[in-house]
Amino acid sequence: MSPAEPPPELRPVTTLKGVGQALADRLAKLGVETVQDLLFLLPLRYEDRTRIVPIGSLRPGDRAVVEGEIQLAEVVFRRKRTLLVRLADGTGFLTLRFFYFSGAQQEQLARGARLRCFGEVRRGPLGLEIVHPEYRRADARDAQATEDVLTPVYPATEGVQQGRLRILTAQALLATRAGVRDWLPPALLADLGLPTLHEALEYVHRPPPDAQLALLAEGRHPAQRRLAFEELLAHQLALRELRRQSRRDPAWPLAPAGELEARLLASLPFALTQAQQRVIDEVRVDLAKPSPMLRLVQGDVGSGKTVVAALAALRAVEAGCQAVLMAPTELLAEQHWQNLDRWLRPLGLLVALLTGRLTGRARQSALDAIAAGDVPVVVGTHALFQEGVRFGRLGLVVVDEQHRFGVHQRLALREKGLCHGRYPHQLIMTATPIPRTLAMTAYADLDVSVIDELPPGRTPVATVVMPESRRDEVVARIHGACREGRQAYWVCPLIEESEALEAQAAQDTAAALAAALPELRVALVHGRMPAADKERTMARFKAGEIQLLVATTVIEVGVDVANASLMVIENSERMGLAQLHQLRGRVGRGQHASSCVLLYRPPLTPLARERLKVLRETNDGFEVARRDLELRGPGELLGTRQTGLMQLKVADLMRDADLLPRVQQAAEMMLAAHGDNIAALKRRWIGAGTRYGNV
Ligand code: ADP
Ligand code: MG
Repeated sequence: MSPAEPPPELRPVTTLKGVGQALADRLAKLGVETVQDLLFLLPLRYEDRTRIVPIGSLRPGDRAVVEGEIQLAEVVFRRKRTLLVRLADGTGFLTLRFFYFSGAQQEQLARGARLRCFGEVRRGPLGLEIVHPEYRRADARDAQATEDVLTPVYPATEGVQQGRLRILTAQALLATRAGVRDWLPPALLADLGLPTLHEALEYVHRPPPDAQLALLAEGRHPAQRRLAFEELLAHQLALRELRRQSRRDPAWPLAPAGELEARLLASLPFALTQAQQRVIDEVRVDLAKPSPMLRLVQGDVGSGKTVVAALAALRAVEAGCQAVLMAPTELLAEQHWQNLDRWLRPLGLLVALLTGRLTGRARQSALDAIAAGDVPVVVGTHALFQEGVRFGRLGLVVVDEQHRFGVHQRLALREKGLCHGRYPHQLIMTATPIPRTLAMTAYADLDVSVIDELPPGRTPVATVVMPESRRDEVVARIHGACREGRQAYWVCPLIEESEALEAQAAQDTAAALAAALPELRVALVHGRMPAADKERTMARFKAGEIQLLVATTVIEVGVDVANASLMVIENSERMGLAQLHQLRGRVGRGQHASSCVLLYRPPLTPLARERLKVLRETNDGFEVARRDLELRGPGELLGTRQTGLMQLKVADLMRDADLLPRVQQAAEMMLAAHGDNIAALKRRWIGAGTRYGNV
C-alpha cells in the first residue's frame, strides 16, 4: 500500500462493487460516504431465515421462513383483483395474498409447485396469511439452502433496498476483513471484557444462527455493548473537546469588589443557605476568568436559584457589563422581572422586561436602550435571542428552567451573545435534576453545581393520591386551609389538543369551585388570558387577596407564593413525573405544613400508578428524577430527541447507564495516553452529519 492510500475502511463507497454515482448519492443522504460509514449503519433488528418453520407452529406476528406445496391458487375479485395461494406443508396451511402480480408470477404460483416464502404472518379472513411474501420456487434447480446467519434489517432508507444494503455491508466486511482500525487500546478492551471492533461489527451485521435474538433485540449483546461504549466515549471526548475549546475563547473577566452583591444580601430578609453560598462562590471563580463560564446549576424547586442568578448578574453589572435572564414562559419572565426589579431598584439599577407584550414604540425604545448599554439587566423569554436583541456589552446570560437546552442550543446562544469579540458567560439553571453519571455524560461540556439544600424552615409536602370521586373531601380541605389563612392552587387538566378547550374546562372548574366555596375569593389564570390579566391575577394571589387560584398548567414552573399550602392537581394520571414534581413545588415554600392532592380518574394504568406512588413516597427532586428515568428512559428526560443533545446510534443512556463511569475513565485515559486516536474516533461516530459546532 502506498503511504497516500487510505486504509480500506476509509475508502469511498464507490470503491465497492456495483456502487455507481447514483447509489453513492443516495447513500450520502444517509451520511454514508466511506466503507466505514457503511459498517456503522447498524441493523435495527434481525430476522431468522436460518431455519424453516413448520406452518402449524406459526403465530400471528411471526416473521418466518416456511416451505410447502401450493394446493390452490385463484384470482378473486373483492374490491380489488387479488391472487390467493394456499400453501401446505403437512403441519398446516397458510394463505399467501398478492394484490399486485404479473402474469408470469401467476404462472409460477401454480398448483403443485413447491415454494419457500418469508414474511410476516398475520390473521386473515381464511386463517393465517402472509401478504406479499418474499418467495422463490423450492423445486427449482437453483434452490438455495436457508441463510446461514441471521438476516439484518437496516434502518429504512430512501431508494436503497434492504437487499442492496445486505450486499453492500457484506462487501464492506469483506473489504475490511484484515480489521477495521480499532481506536480503543487493547488493554482497555481486555479490562472491559469486550470484543474487538471488527468482531463486534462482524457479529452485529451477521449474527450466527445460534445468536440470542432476545439479547440482540434488547441491545445488550457484548458486541453491541462494545459499540455503545465506543460511541459514548466518542461523544464524551467531543464534548470535552468543546469545553477545552471554549476555555480558549475570550470573555470579559468579571471580578468586581462585590459591593452591589453585599448591598443586595444586606437587604434580603434571609441569609443564603450553605449550598447557595457554595454555588455562588463557584460562579464567582468562573466569572473572574477571561474565558466564558459554562455552568449548569441544578437545584430542586424552591432551593433558591433566583437569588444566585441575581448575585451573578450584579457581578456582571458591577464589572461594567450587561446581564440577561431568560425564562421559558412570559409568566415566569414577569415574575423574575418583579423579583429582580424589587431587589435591584433600591440599588439604583434598571431592570427591563422584554416579552411579546412589549410592542411598537415602547419596544423600540427599550431595544435602543439595551443596544446602547443603558439597561444593565434585561429579563425576557427565550424568544429574546431568536429575535436578535443587540446588547451594548453583554457579560452574562442566565437561562432559567430550560429542560431542553442541549449542546446545540448552548452553542447557538454563545454565538448570538458574541459582543465586541467576547463571548458571554453562561449560567444555566434547572430544577430537573438528573443523576450524576448521566449529567457528566450529557453535560460533559459544562461544569455542574448543585444546590442540594432547601432554605431552612420548609416542611416537606405531604402528598396524597385520590380518585376524583372524592372531590368533596378536597373541597373541604381547601375550605379548611383558607380558613387558617393559607391559600390554595387547583390545577386543571392539560388538554393537549386545544388550548381553547383547556381554558374552557378551567373556567368551568373555577365557576364550580366558586359556587361550592362561596365565602372564598376564587380566581382563574389560563394560557389564553391576556398577559396583563394573568399578571394582575398573580399579583393579587401573591398579595393574599385571592385565596384559591384555579389554573391551567401555565403555573408549572417557578411561581412563588410562600403562603400557599395546598396544591390540588386534577387528572394527575395524565401528567409526567417531572411536571407533577414541579407543580407540587409551588407549595411548601413557607413555614406552613403543606400538602398536595393528586386527583386521578380511574382506572389507573400500571405506569400511572407507579408514577403517582413515586410522588407519594418522596419529595426529593433527585430521587423523583431517578425514578422517572427508570420509568421512562433518558431520551425523554433530557429531551434529547427534540434537541439532538446526544444523537446516539447504538448506545442508550438508560440501558447502558452502567457503562457511563467506565466511559468517563476511558476518556481520561485516552486524553492522557492516546490523544492521537481521538480525532479518528470522533470522526467515526459523530461524523459529518451531526457535528457539534466545530468539533
Ligand atoms: P427556585 O430554585 O425554585 O427557582 P426560588 O428562587 O423561586 O426557587 O426561591 C424560592 C423561595 O425561597 C423564594 O421566595 C426565595 O426568595 C426564597 N429563598 C431563596 N433563598 C432563600 C434562603 N436562603 N432562605 C430563605 N428563603 C430563601
Ligand atoms: Mg426558579
